[in-house]
Amino acid sequence: MKIIETIAELKSLRPKLAEPVGFVPTMGYLHQGHLALVRQARAENPSVVVSIFVNPTQFGPHEDFKQYPHDPQRDLALLEKEKVDIVFMPPADEMYPPKFNSWVEVGKVAERLEGAARPGHFRGVTTVVAKLFNIVQPDRAYFGQKDAQQLIVIRKMVADLDMSLEVVAVPTVREPDGLAMSSRNTYLNPEERKAALVLYQALTLAQKLWSQGEKDAKVIRQQMTDLIQKQPLAEIDYISIADAETLDELDRVKPPALVSMAVRIGKTRLIDNVVLNSENKDY
Ligand code: AMP
Repeated sequence: MKIIETIAELKSLRPKLAEPVGFVPTMGYLHQGHLALVRQARAENPSVVVSIFVNPTQFGPHEDFKQYPHDPQRDLALLEKEKVDIVFMPPADEMYPPKFNSWVEVGKVAERLEGAARPGHFRGVTTVVAKLFNIVQPDRAYFGQKDAQQLIVIRKMVADLDMSLEVVAVPTVREPDGLAMSSRNTYLNPEERKAALVLYQALTLAQKLWSQGEKDAKVIRQQMTDLIQKQPLAEIDYISIADAETLDELDRVKPPALVSMAVRIGKTRLIDNVVLNSENKDY
């Protein structure tokens, strides 16, 4: 496994990689969710590149950039075990030199939900992912369904800007009790960790109501709200039931619909989602 810190070095190695090349962008502090992406990339491609880069431009001024957890030695040991070919770990000024001044911005689908709650977030995401795609030149890039809107925004960028790669979605990996794995779960104290289960419970409730024939999005949203409000440590940021491609909010649930939410548990903001489709399965 080669560990690369400069763009020039990665670009010079790229032509030597057997194709197709699978790529997994991450911000590190890896867990089983990240490793599911890496394993799928490993199974589908002769070469696998993983990036670890905590991207400053996707964090708002009052967000957790400075405290974002990191443990590069542990991450590298995990990636070595998965037989990754290259880990790209650039320092921030390698990706954003002092005169950096170009941005990639996706329209409507990036402006709602997470985009509305975190202004500038997706501009940072799409800019860094476009740069990483240009540097790594992957044939396939793997993203988690856990960040459903990110996946939609990236697909839109790839389609609109004619990028020559396939975007592969990987299902959300959960803890045994249902909490979606996230690097930010480490911020939760034991009491908050228990309270955080309310996100999954609300999503399970939505799935149940839908499978019982409930089509009124307002009814589903209200029942989810009621359930979450019973948990004193939880504060709802948003609950959305939207078209899974356009992210237009729905009055009547028409599959595939994305049920997504952001909920604060104490100071920690968690997101999670499920897709309601005709088979009522995650995709
Ligand atoms: P991050 O390091 O948070 O930027 O995540 C890197 C990639 O891992 C993104 O494509 C995420 O959607 C994905 N990911 C994070 N958590 C999970 C999870 N629990 N299950 C599946 N994919 C995940």
